[in-house]
Amino acid sequence: MPLVLNSGVHFGIKVAPRWPSTRVIVDEAAFASLQLVHLRLPRNLRLILTRGHEPRSSYLSIHRTLSRYAGRKLFRLLFSNRHNEVDEIFGANGHDLDGTHVDISIELDGRRLSFLPVSVFTPLRWQARRVKKYRLLLEDVRGALSICGFQIHQNPTESLQVHCDFVRLNPNTMDWA
Ligand SMILES: [Zn+2]
Repeated sequence: MPLVLNSGVHFGIKVAPRWPSTRVIVDEAAFASLQLVHLRLPRNLRLILTRGHEPRSSYLSIHRTLSRYAGRKLFRLLFSNRHNEVDEIFGANGHDLDGTHVDISIELDGRRLSFLPVSVFTPLRWQARRVKKYRLLLEDVRGALSICGFQIHQNPTESLQVHCDFVRLNPNTMDWA
């Protein structure tokens, strides 16, 4: 069952649709699980939901398809030794299928953390510097997502996006309260 969320804070989760979108469509169970993730995190951390389902026939999906096409070409030019990552980074990654595939950003003390300052074109060296700085925080968030049924993308750049797929809620985690 999909939820359509506008910008703002919904049950503790901030929704900030990635341009040019103005809303995020997310699977109801996945969103409920994100709330469990939120409750597991320190109070000064907040999840920001930026992308969910983008139906194939929509203007948004067409925009994303064109962006990915141009992005693939640019990425191949910039990173000649990372061609094997092109499909992982520029695939639809399930966003065209349903709202169980989401992108998450992280807010620390009211400030959005930027792990990819130039999006997926951020060099791995820059990424590594940021990951090192926020290693414990990332471990917290990734651990909570994993326990609450989300699989984080295996590609290092996508994992900082943070692209994850809602698989299922582990019943053992329901007794946390
Ligand atoms: Zn994604």
